[in-house]
Amino acid sequence: MTTSKQTDMRISRLDRTLIVAVVLLSSVFPVELFSNTPSAPKGVDGEYSGKQGQVLVVKVKGEEQATEVKGTFLKRTIPFFREFRPEEPAGYIGLLGIDMQDEPGTYELAVEVKQGEQAKQLSFNVLVAKEKFAVEHLTLPKDKVDLDEKAAARWKAEQEQVKRALAEDSRLKLWRSNFVEPVTGKRTGIFGSVRIMNGQPRNPHNGEDIGAPLGAEVAATNDGIVRITVDHLFSGKGVFIDHGLGFYTMYFHLSEILVKDGDLITAGQIIGKVGATGRATGPHLHWGVKLNGARVNPYSLLDLPFKNGVTPSPNATVQTPGTMPTSQTVPVRE
Ligand SMILES: [Zn+2]
Repeated sequence: MTTSKQTDMRISRLDRTLIVAVVLLSSVFPVELFSNTPSAPKGVDGEYSGKQGQVLVVKVKGEEQATEVKGTFLKRTIPFFREFRPEEPAGYIGLLGIDMQDEPGTYELAVEVKQGEQAKQLSFNVLVAKEKFAVEHLTLPKDKVDLDEKAAARWKAEQEQVKRALAEDSRLKLWRSNFVEPVTGKRTGIFGSVRIMNGQPRNPHNGEDIGAPLGAEVAATNDGIVRITVDHLFSGKGVFIDHGLGFYTMYFHLSEILVKDGDLITAGQIIGKVGATGRATGPHLHWGVKLNGARVNPYSLLDLPFKNGVTPSPNATVQTPGTMPTSQTVPVRE
């Protein structure tokens, strides 16, 4: 047992030496080295795979000389960030969000690695698998579903306000390892659910609802900056936190907001209290996440394999917990 462990360690040290040698070579001859590289290693089918609404961790290794690493997936931009792992060459990591409505299929993740004026392209295949989302039937007051002209105009203006506020992503990565669950409660498991309101099909549910008592404290899931606080028709009192690099979390239906636009927030800081403001059938927290434009399951954050600065292995796939039932009844939502 001990002997094989020691052997493994020797091999991994040897590997590291090789990697360092390759990286040193590549920094001296960046273009030559890569232009002579056969195209075979580019993209392997199913190299990364995940279900609708999941977050994939993509790692580009051996590029510590790079000045910028940026991915494009289904026209969405994925900024990579530098990550250090003890006893390994630094790598770049990108969090790829699969939108809950991305069509199942295989798509290219194109990654551009820049080093000063020079750039090279990497290509990965990402397999998007279908998630079996729940179907929910909700009964709400008629005026909360069928909007009159005035309410429809208000809703539209509020959408625009949010869009403007979130148009510019912070270029700095503000979040750290270890995400915090904003409130302890029952996960209703209805992220992505198809919603039938008063018999009419509506937009799918773009977050997770957590049942909690009125007035329960709501914590920020990670460090960030309050981009906007709102009191909107559907979301009620809400807080949008920008965690940097196109990563946002949202907290809706609050009874009270305890932060202001522009406030710097640390992970776990209390930002508000659970309520039932806006379109809600009872006190709960609607927790939403937007990752580079993709609506992903917020609970996928808690399962990200980042622990105390140690980053995951290159092909780590984050699975969201549990499987979705096809239909269920839950007490609180929206
Ligand atoms: Zn909700």
